[in-house]
Amino acid sequence: RRAVLAESAVGPGRTADGHRVELLLNLGGEEPESAAAHDCEGVGLLRTEFLFLDRRTEPTVEEQRTVYAELFRAFDGRVVTVRTLDAGTDKPLPFADPGTEPNPALGVRGFRIARTAPELLRRQLTAVARAARDTGAHVRVMAPMIATPEEAEEFAALARGAGLTEVGAVIEVPSAALLADRVLQRVDFVSIGTNDLSQYTLAADRTLDTLPDLLDPWQPALLHLVGRIGAAGRRLGRPVGVCGEAAADPLLALVLVGLGVTGLSMAAPALPAVRHALAGHSLRDCRDLAALALEAATPRRARAAVRDAADPAV
Ligand code: PEP
Ligand code: MG
Repeated sequence: RRAVLAESAVGPGRTADGHRVELLLNLGGEEPESAAAHDCEGVGLLRTEFLFLDRRTEPTVEEQRTVYAELFRAFDGRVVTVRTLDAGTDKPLPFADPGTEPNPALGVRGFRIARTAPELLRRQLTAVARAARDTGAHVRVMAPMIATPEEAEEFAALARGAGLTEVGAVIEVPSAALLADRVLQRVDFVSIGTNDLSQYTLAADRTLDTLPDLLDPWQPALLHLVGRIGAAGRRLGRPVGVCGEAAADPLLALVLVGLGVTGLSMAAPALPAVRHALAGHSLRDCRDLAALALEAATPRRARAAVRDAADPAV
């Protein structure tokens, strides 16, 4: 076992029995060079709204291309997953402001910007596609807040029309999780945003600190939805990632893999512990742990059951 762990301390993520799990980085406005120094297989979530927070006016296609190309070059050869702008009243970008809304979390945010400012999204996709072409980088692109298969199809058409080849949807709205099969039929991959999927599934505002138990990513209802998406991915042979905070908890990461998740994207500090947890458990172990979590009555019991059954080294 020690040899397995030492060998797995760098390079691609894998379980003890060699099942590959992509280990990826979540990025916002970090320095490309220092971000690329982390031991990961690439970027699983680039929150592009953070690149332009200080801009009062929309960056031109050329300005955007320069920013994306710098990042793609820094990650030379590794995948970079670009999430299109996720601006909304709660994450305002002056140039993509939907105006005031009584319920920003339920308003015009994420992919919904295609309803009010389709050209803005088109220009962003053009800039990403040009940067990908100029650098020869391995680029995936995905849209946040996809709620229906129809929206997945619209986004895929826009992105492919711009010249991008690997197109995905962030699943963070329960309606998209319930119809994950149909969403996955229209895109090449999905990535589950567990932060928002918790908020919308449990009807608990993620910006409040008064509802931590409802927002706990160990909530069995959330895990059932993840399992549903994982099963759809397996049926269709398409990748299913997780890019929310849940992926950064080593015990929960095991459960997610057991539910069919094929890639985990997280903030850099979480990578070593998640890598180590995976290396100490087989895919079969992960599936058994997932079954325990799904059966539990509460998030606390789910975590306790998995804690007791997992290797104590996690
Ligand atoms: C999420 O919702 O889980 C996610 C990854 O995106 P964000 O936290 O930026 O909404
Ligand atoms: Mg989100």
